[in-house]
Amino acid sequence: MIDLVIVGAGPAGLCAAIAAAENGLKVCILDEFIQPGGRLLGQLHQEPNGYWWNGIEEAHKLHKKAVQLGVDIHLGVSVYDLQKAEKGWFVYSSDKIFESMCLLLATGASETPIPVPGWTLPGVMSIGAAQVMSNVHRVKPGEKCVVIGVNVLSLAITRELQLCGVEIEGILLPHPNLVSGESADPERVMQSLLRLSHLAPSPFIRFGGKWVTPKLAVQFFPKKGFKMWGIPIQVRSRVLSILGEKQVEAVRIANVTPSGDSIPGTEKEISVDFVCIAGGLTPLSELAAIAGCPFQFFAELGGYIPLHNEYMQTDVQGLYVAGNITGIESAKVAMAQGKVAGLTISKDLKALKDITKIEDAVKNVVVTRRNAMIQFHPGIEKARTELYNEFSRSRGKMISI
Ligand SMILES: Cc1cc2nc3c(=O)[nH]c(=O)nc-3n(C[C@H](O)[C@H](O)[C@H](O)COP(=O)(O)OP(=O)(O)OC[C@H]3O[C@@H](n4cnc5c(N)ncnc54)[C@H](O)[C@@H]3O)c2cc1C
Repeated sequence: MIDLVIVGAGPAGLCAAIAAAENGLKVCILDEFIQPGGRLLGQLHQEPNGYWWNGIEEAHKLHKKAVQLGVDIHLGVSVYDLQKAEKGWFVYSSDKIFESMCLLLATGASETPIPVPGWTLPGVMSIGAAQVMSNVHRVKPGEKCVVIGVNVLSLAITRELQLCGVEIEGILLPHPNLVSGESADPERVMQSLLRLSHLAPSPFIRFGGKWVTPKLAVQFFPKKGFKMWGIPIQVRSRVLSILGEKQVEAVRIANVTPSGDSIPGTEKEISVDFVCIAGGLTPLSELAAIAGCPFQFFAELGGYIPLHNEYMQTDVQGLYVAGNITGIESAKVAMAQGKVAGLTISKDLKALKDITKIEDAVKNVVVTRRNAMIQFHPGIEKARTELYNEFSRSRGKMISI
């Protein structure tokens, strides 16, 4: 029997595999994609210290190390069901049924699409799909685009699209509806943008971002938007609809008041050949539900989170989680969490020689989070504390399926 099966060969899964294999465990990773690395493969951005974070290179390094340590990696294999065995787990995949003592779910996150009139036209895609096309498959999604949704993900990926030669007409607000929620509200969007002002290339925005209030910033927001890397960012304009006969040809936009009402008479059309929708991320946690893991909702972490502690243990015996399934954070945090999971599992299987390594790894997650270049949601640290407290309270009700 395998000691540990990991679902997901992203940064969390690969780092967990490395830590577990370094302690002598027999580890197998299953991933439905054709390459290891998960969402790392799409990432390319410059950090404030000038260092270029190249996700493909980072993924190669982790993959190479895992292979050297004897980790068995199965690609193009989807996991669709889990069942508790007398000892351990049965993992049902598109290849075969795997049997393991422990199971780590490192399945990452999925995107939330925001419905927009015209979004079924060819040429409309999620921002993550555009990232995969350009950075993973090396296909330019089009020549000229508009991005709907002003958030950390859209800023990062639009910059990547610009680097691959796409002309960006702008990043604009979505139309208000049940799904877009606060992401259509200029003030709420400005609040989250101000948290990112430290990333701006302009010292004026970096400095100003620390002092200005969201209300004031929206009130005095330039009509033409402000530019970051030359990309127009608009919190006072929204996309009303996507237009085209057989494929995307244009978007119809309108200006909005500071409180988010469309201003009649300001409608106009912009020609584009593709549109990206950036609605945010939510943990991909269905397998944890199948495994019987209890959940709790944390908006700051991106949605319903399988209850777990800082050691990445869940309430279900032999089941662990790491990475974006535990809440939306950056790749470096996912890597740090993966290491914690690998060490904890090694300890639980009595393979870890130096127990102090776990506490060091847990501290490293906190430090990595505090130093992270981007925070997907404000209040992540507070939400994590609440989550861990909730886990301690529910620990007495440990589920043993
Ligand atoms: C579209 C998108 C863009 C992002 N861009 C950035 C960015 O620019 N910078 C940044 O820091 N963070 C970004 N993130 C966040 C990113 O997810 C984390 O940084 C990091 O990659 C999370 O690591 P992970 O290992 O938890 O998950 P992932 O990297 O998402 O890896 C999860 C893996 O699990 C596999 N998987 C999922 N379900 C199954 C299943 N049932 N069977 C088999 N395999 C399965 C997937 O194929 C995937 O390879 C982005 C996330 C998304 C979704």
